[in-house]
Parts: sequence; structure tokens; C-alpha cells
Amino acid sequence: MLADYHMHTPFCRHAHGEPEEYAAEAVRKGLSEICFTDHSPAPAGFWCDGMRLDEFPAYQEAVFRCRESAAIPVLFGIEADFLPDPDFLAFARQWLPAQPFDVVLGSVHIIRGWVFTHGGESLEKWKTVDVAAVWREYFDLVGQMADTRLYDIVTHLDAPKHSGYWPPESQIPEIVQPALDRIAAAGMGIELNTSGLLRPCKEIYPSPLILNLARERGIPISFGSDAHGPQDVGRYFDQALKLAKDAGYTHCLRMRGRKKELVPLPGG
Ligand SMILES: [Zn+2]
Ligand SMILES: [Zn+2]
Repeated sequence: MLADYHMHTPFCRHAHGEPEEYAAEAVRKGLSEICFTDHSPAPAGFWCDGMRLDEFPAYQEAVFRCRESAAIPVLFGIEADFLPDPDFLAFARQWLPAQPFDVVLGSVHIIRGWVFTHGGESLEKWKTVDVAAVWREYFDLVGQMADTRLYDIVTHLDAPKHSGYWPPESQIPEIVQPALDRIAAAGMGIELNTSGLLRPCKEIYPSPLILNLARERGIPISFGSDAHGPQDVGRYFDQALKLAKDAGYTHCLRMRGRKKELVPLPGG
């Protein structure tokens, strides 16, 4: 019985289905609990993949309403971006702790204005950049995100592989380890995000190599489908569970009110 701690709602404008339908699907698939983590609103003038600030109360209401009827615990969360900008961080510092969240996922989708996880133009740009340099810059942003202490779990940790561009494997530990050290120092977790299997990289985030490096540092894990519709809930969790166990994990995170505890993985 795993928990799915990453799912979107129509409030982000690119997902569909009522929260109640997500919860029903989670019960059908035998999940222990779920957490909605729609994209965070951003202060005026900043890129945002999600709801407007004035839509946030309705999002909270929809999740709390789902919680009342659901047969399993329904947690309230957010997928909050990190941007290395003083005005953005001033907003995050004030806004994130003021909400009644169970889970705050931290994500980096943008490098200096480039939304590198999107298709189209974004994909074209990958052909023109120094891939290792982009990975390095991305993982430095993840480290900076950890240093803020504003987030609980890093989502899709090796997101730059989204479009299928990797640096040479021999360089990956040296690129990733400083960020993992900062994640560990912050007491953060990382997520096994199965949506990568549907992207050009065709791999769960993060890779077995990176997950092993996280395991060596005692960084705890959660599981997330990144569902954008009810049918996606808990998708490929059998593969994610195997990945976790192969890396030597025996426990995963369970969260309430942003407090972490460890529970055994199913099947011992
Ligand atoms: Zn994301
Ligand atoms: Zn997401």
C-alpha cells in the first residue's frame, strides 16, 4: 500500500477530473492515501503553470471537500516552484508557511527564463545547449531551493532528462552530489515520480544511479504519479517500488501537517 503524493487538478488548467474521482481511483488501485499537489500560484509578473492566487481558496475547498467523502486519507499539498529571485522568494517565504499544507513539493521547471521541461520550442533549445552545463545549473538551483528550507520534498529530481538529453554518465555523480548533500542537510525528501516513463527520457525520476546516491545520504523518498487525470493515479507504482527496493530503500515518507515520518515499504 503506497501513497501517491503528487497529483494535479483542473485548477492548473492542464488536468481534468474531480478530486473525488482521483480518490476513487486511488482506492481502486489499493493506495494507502493521496495528496493533491497542484501548481502553486506565483506573485504578479512571475511565470506560473497553475492557478491564480485568487483561485487558491477554491482549490483548498475542493480538496477539503474530497477529504470528507474519501475512503482513504486525502492530504492537502502544493507543487511550489523555486526561482532564484528575491521578490519571488519573499512571496514564498510569507505565503507557503501560512497555508495549511501537509506536503510542499519543491520543483525547478525554469532555468533563466527557459521552461526546459516543456515540448515545442523548449525541446528545440536542448539541441543547441551544453547539456552538462545545463544539468549543472539546474542542480545548483535545486541546492539553492534546499537551502531555503521552504519545501519538504524535491519532485522529479533529475528533471533535465525530460527531453532525453543526458550528460555522460560518468559526470552525473559529480554534477548531482552537491545538491544531494544540500537536500540531506535540509532534511528534505525526494520523490520517485513515475511520469518520466511517459516522457522522451522513458525513465522514472530520478535514475537508479541518482537514487543510490540519495540512499547513501539517508534521504527519504515519497512516490508520485504526477497525475493529470484520475486514471493516472498510482500509475507505474509497481516499477517505482522495485526501483526503491533495488536502491536499498526499506521505508518511505508519510506526512501530516508538513511533519515527516517513515513507514515501511509494502512487502517488507
Ligand atoms: Zn512539475
Ligand atoms: Zn506536477
